[in-house]
Amino acid sequence: MRRKLLTAAVAALASASLATAASAATPTVVTLGFDDGTADHVTEVLPLLEKYGFKATFFVNSGRIGADRGPYMSWDDLQTLQARGQEVGGHTVNHTNLVTSATPQDDVCADLATLKAHGIAATSFAYPYGAWNATVKSVLEGGCGSAGAYTSARTTQGIDYPCTDSCAMPLPFVSDPFRTDALQYMSVGGASAADLINAIRSAHDAGGGWLPLVLHGVCTAGVGFCDDDDYRLDPAGLETVLAFLKDNAVSGCYLVRTTAQVVGAATPFACPSPPPGPSAPPGDGGGTPAFIGGGGGGGAAAPPTPPAAAAPPTVEAPPAVAETSQAAPAPPAAPSVRLLAAPRKLLAKGIVRFRPVVVAAAGVAGIEYLVNGKVVRRWSAGPYARVWKTTSKRARAARLSVRVTDRLGRVASVPEVTVRIAGRRH
Ligand SMILES: [Zn+2]
Repeated sequence: MRRKLLTAAVAALASASLATAASAATPTVVTLGFDDGTADHVTEVLPLLEKYGFKATFFVNSGRIGADRGPYMSWDDLQTLQARGQEVGGHTVNHTNLVTSATPQDDVCADLATLKAHGIAATSFAYPYGAWNATVKSVLEGGCGSAGAYTSARTTQGIDYPCTDSCAMPLPFVSDPFRTDALQYMSVGGASAADLINAIRSAHDAGGGWLPLVLHGVCTAGVGFCDDDDYRLDPAGLETVLAFLKDNAVSGCYLVRTTAQVVGAATPFACPSPPPGPSAPPGDGGGTPAFIGGGGGGGAAAPPTPPAAAAPPTVEAPPAVAETSQAAPAPPAAPSVRLLAAPRKLLAKGIVRFRPVVVAAAGVAGIEYLVNGKVVRRWSAGPYARVWKTTSKRARAARLSVRVTDRLGRVASVPEVTVRIAGRRH
């Protein structure tokens, strides 16, 4: 996070947004990226996208997709998304960090092969954790033989919020397709519609371009399987963003396009035309009624879908060493957990990020995050990255660990790691 000059940037943003009505020569093309394949992507996101006539890109981990919907979508769900014109992209079999993986080729290509075997034509990829390097990129560039090849790969960096140097990628798209930028949006505890709209406005005010957004669960924290992380957004918040894009499509020259539509665009994008009549939506509308009003105060949003508590346990695919996920389910090996890297010693605001990698062939029943031997957070569904904020005002050392229990009651934990945490006043 580069948050230098935060105050100045916010001030600049506020004044710049006054000029939003001015037309930009280049459209601001927003790609809505929903990562990790959680079930709310089909229960919450798809209905909202269809209400506003938008298409998004869903980056899924094939090893988490099962016959039945659980914390993650089912194969039927993915086929529904694709059949309705949404894009499904790859994100490795099991959300593996490719930089530290011993088998990045398998992680990428077994995923693509499995998607293909289920009728999903994936051409866009997103690096788990945004982690890539030259070796990893060469895997993507080299393709997957008979399984096909991805045509782009998205990172999670490059566009700051609030943006200073880069507010969007240039269009027409001429950058390296295997390391595309995304909004590096960081708001501990969940995204906000206001910040996302400010980022979209900033891209517009800076002259337009391509702005890929990264979102995880669209859900209410603490409800069902909702994973409360930095990229979570409430359904009402998503609706607010979609309504903004719809209502300002003409005046702001906003377009919503999938990753593949941008990377593969043969001709430059043009601004949406004003609607020909009072009842027709802007050009991007696809025939759905325009949403007028405050946008997502909550009243217009569908009621939360009840958590699928009764769904059968999801058996996760074996870890990335598997050739493909087509093989019969592996016998349930004991679970294991490791920390992807030592938790970052974030010295600002006393925040620690846990980034555990969990392998549990029998499925995860629960995961606990421990500080000094005490459980500070608990969760039951991936992705498992978590943030913990100290309440201490003084810097101190803390011992961190993560403990996983699988559905057979077997426990694995990470040896304690000692980190130094700044006090919250820093
Ligand atoms: Zn992810």
